Amino acid sequence: MPSNTRKAAVIMMNQIIAVLLLVSFSVTLAPVPGVAFVRETANGGAPAFWPDAQTPLNLQLGCPPNGSLPVWGPCWDDAAKDAAQRWQPSSTRFRFLTPSPVSASPCGTDGRQTLVFQPTFCGAAFGGAVAVTAYFINSTTGELVETDTLFDANRSWTTYDGPVRTDGAGTVIYDFHRVAIHELGHVLGLDHPDDFGQTVSAIMNRRVSNTDTTQADDLAGVSAIYPGAGTPPLGILENPKPSSFTSGIGTISGWVCSATRVDLQVDGTITVQAPYGSLRHDTQGVCGDANNGFGYLVNWSNLGPGQHTLVALADGVEFGRATFTISTFGVPFVTGANGTFVVPFNGRNVTLDWQESLQNFAIRGIQ
Ligand SMILES: [Zn+2]
Repeated sequence: MPSNTRKAAVIMMNQIIAVLLLVSFSVTLAPVPGVAFVRETANGGAPAFWPDAQTPLNLQLGCPPNGSLPVWGPCWDDAAKDAAQRWQPSSTRFRFLTPSPVSASPCGTDGRQTLVFQPTFCGAAFGGAVAVTAYFINSTTGELVETDTLFDANRSWTTYDGPVRTDGAGTVIYDFHRVAIHELGHVLGLDHPDDFGQTVSAIMNRRVSNTDTTQADDLAGVSAIYPGAGTPPLGILENPKPSSFTSGIGTISGWVCSATRVDLQVDGTITVQAPYGSLRHDTQGVCGDANNGFGYLVNWSNLGPGQHTLVALADGVEFGRATFTISTFGVPFVTGANGTFVVPFNGRNVTLDWQESLQNFAIRGIQ
């Protein structure tokens, strides 16, 4: 990855004086033995942090002009949301929030953490950087006030995991997802370990590399800035069950006590928001209220036959996971088929009917 570097621009703001512009790689500190991750500071001042251990992101990245992204899509904003999740396993306390975005400039000061593609860094050249995160920070306390992240619109962007890819001419095609994970690490207060004499596997290292998601050192960093355990979401993915078999038309369902939104992620590529808040009186005792159910109607045939993995997320934090097997007739929807079968089951004779609307067999009678 020669010459393709990322920079975090640190804009310091103290209570009196106008802002100064400082590019973080000019900061030099002695390496800290035994600690690899490095916290962002305002010119060596107090290390940066969000006072509430959370911050909303204003995603202004939009969608690719032709079709959807290969993974984590369909839009850049979706890939950014997945990137945010990589920083918030249930073991950590910090949370990115993703409210409905508003149109905002990434160059002024408006208190919003805007992420956007731009042809310049607010009029300046990106140079070797592929993306830049600017900070507004109280240099006395370290409290972050605002960040803005600009991705160089003149680069070639897509999404993929694994080794860095190039086109036929040897030009890098950037994986937006890993660059977004890196920049969000700056947003929450981390700097580049390799700028401070550290050699460690980390998404926060300066250069884009084959490291495509957060590493142990990165998560140790977010835990150090925001100490204390996260509260894992209390909930259950009930259907499908792990190691189960499924077919036809069914419902992904379960419950979670408290969430702004519930998302379902299939095979790490498809993410859908599930309708959430239906009454589940059986959860009243655990949750203290009853509007905890979620359910998403699915035609399993659309996912194709074979093994699949489903992850259920409450506000981006996993609370349920199942790997299961889908059987299909090789078409998305079987039409014009009929059949009635009597099968012995549980000491009785059960009559099964093919039900086209369910794409499944239903019990017609029990003798
Ligand atoms: Zn960086």
